[in-house]
Amino acid sequence: MFNLKEALMLTAKGYSDLKKAIAACTLTNLSLMLPFLITIQLFAELLKPLMGQEISWNKMWAFLGFGVVAAVLVFLASKNDYKKTYVTSYMEAEHTRVSVAERIRKLPMSFFNSKDLTELTTNIMADCTTTEHVLSHIIPQLISNGISITLVCAMMAAFDWRMAIAVFCSVPVALLVILGSKSFQRRLSEKHVESKLRASGQVQEYLEGIKVIKACGLDGSKFAKLDEALRLMKKMAMKMEFGTGIFVTGAQMLLQAGIGLTVFVGAHLLTKGSIELIPLLMFLVIVVRIYGPIMVEFTLLPELFYHRISTKRMRTLMTAPIMEGNAEAKLTQWNIEFEGVSFSYDTKNAGTDSVIKDLTVSFPSDAITALVGPSGCGKSTVSRLIARFWDVNKGRVKVGGVDVKTLDPEHLMSYMSFVFQDVVLFNDTVYNNIKIGNMNASEEEVIAAAKAACCDDFIKELPSGYQTMLGENGSTLSGGERQRISIARALLKNAPIVLLDEATASLDPENEALIQQAISRLIEGKTVIVIAHRLRTIAGADKIVVLEDGKLAEEGTHDALMEKKGLYERLYTIQQESLGWSV
Ligand code: ADP
Repeated sequence: MFNLKEALMLTAKGYSDLKKAIAACTLTNLSLMLPFLITIQLFAELLKPLMGQEISWNKMWAFLGFGVVAAVLVFLASKNDYKKTYVTSYMEAEHTRVSVAERIRKLPMSFFNSKDLTELTTNIMADCTTTEHVLSHIIPQLISNGISITLVCAMMAAFDWRMAIAVFCSVPVALLVILGSKSFQRRLSEKHVESKLRASGQVQEYLEGIKVIKACGLDGSKFAKLDEALRLMKKMAMKMEFGTGIFVTGAQMLLQAGIGLTVFVGAHLLTKGSIELIPLLMFLVIVVRIYGPIMVEFTLLPELFYHRISTKRMRTLMTAPIMEGNAEAKLTQWNIEFEGVSFSYDTKNAGTDSVIKDLTVSFPSDAITALVGPSGCGKSTVSRLIARFWDVNKGRVKVGGVDVKTLDPEHLMSYMSFVFQDVVLFNDTVYNNIKIGNMNASEEEVIAAAKAACCDDFIKELPSGYQTMLGENGSTLSGGERQRISIARALLKNAPIVLLDEATASLDPENEALIQQAISRLIEGKTVIVIAHRLRTIAGADKIVVLEDGKLAEEGTHDALMEKKGLYERLYTIQQESLGWSV
């Protein structure tokens, strides 16, 4: 049995609301028949003089009275319908949006790695809107129209079955045309969706890379790609409209043939004396009136086929396994241990394609540990594993003796601050961008963090100070300023573990000095892991862990490693020399 709740991924409340909406819609449809029935009676009364009878004015006044009552009933039914159908469906769609966002928050990073971000964002927005539309404009109308049409059909059959057959025999034929084209239409809409995703991906790529595109003179080739994607989208949209239109119009034409058939059968029965003129006229009026909702059904059905694609995608998102764990466990120690850890980004080739290979290493608490090694050796990966952005394939990562796999990722995150190179700033005020570090912080605390991170001076110079809007990813700020805002955030969070990705991009000396000052305030008394790119800055670290191709190459203090004359000493010497050359 077709399960509507399951098919539309509704909550229990959403499903019960949908049933109420269908009932309300049916009631509106039935109430709309009242004026129509009164009109037929009025019509019959008006035709009486043609048959040599007199018009009864009492009846005419009564019809007028019924007409007023019918108008009131239609108004009440429509009002109820509006509330039950639209208000509740928008509430359900809001619930869907929130639960999708909640789900995304809990998904492991591996999910995002295997999915195109454009596809994901387009999905969330478009699929929720489609569901909203289906719940408010399609399902209740489709089902209630079906119910009212069946009722009218039964009433007409009771009156004159021959005429009822003439009116309705074209319906199943026309319906077959629509249902028969289902898989064809689905294929067309899938291709249309694909072309839309490609086009939005191209638009995003073009806009994000506009600076590079202009600088490198790639306007022509990049624009050609975008243009091609947009043209394909237009072509697919037209193909889909044409494909849908041809079947819907075909079905509607077949249905309209029913009018001719009704006239033909009616005329035949009239000449045989099997039907009177008034009932015949009634059937003719009904046939025109009842085909309207059926035609609407035919246009709604393809939209429903289309919606199946949205629910399929939403289901993939909503059923993807999430990262769970203990959200209550209290951590009291901050030493971090890697025990025989192997990890691969590619879950399918986890055995052969490991980025981290059987790594056993410890990061002491209340100390600064530097992670060094050639580019691509796995330094950032190690920091991501500590924060449980990903789960390891083999071995264990422990924080304060607790396996991070057993901890709720958000809970674990509350013990950590991150300062990455690629700072993410939100399209909000400077103040709120810092406050993200700790939503419970007071205004004084936010400003104190900004001061400690050497942000206060430049923020005060912004047009509206702390209330200045930063725009899309803070594009109005310099690299150094963005970094200092992210340090202010981390200072405000005041987490016991700090994961720091040292900036590789060369900053001007003043900015660099300010950032160093901010960082030294941030790491005071904390367990710090710093991914170091410039080795001279970490010579004073308590411990240095040297990675090579995902494995532990060496560990120790700067002096001990220099003495050992291994990889660290080689990297250090190369950097010192290149530094000498650049001066
Ligand atoms: P490092 O920080 O030392 O430069 P990373 O930890 O960033 O190195 O990367 C280690 C390896 O993992 C590299 O080969 C890199 O291409 C790969 N890698 C990094 N991030 C991802 C990712 N999100 N998906 C797939 N591979 C990745």
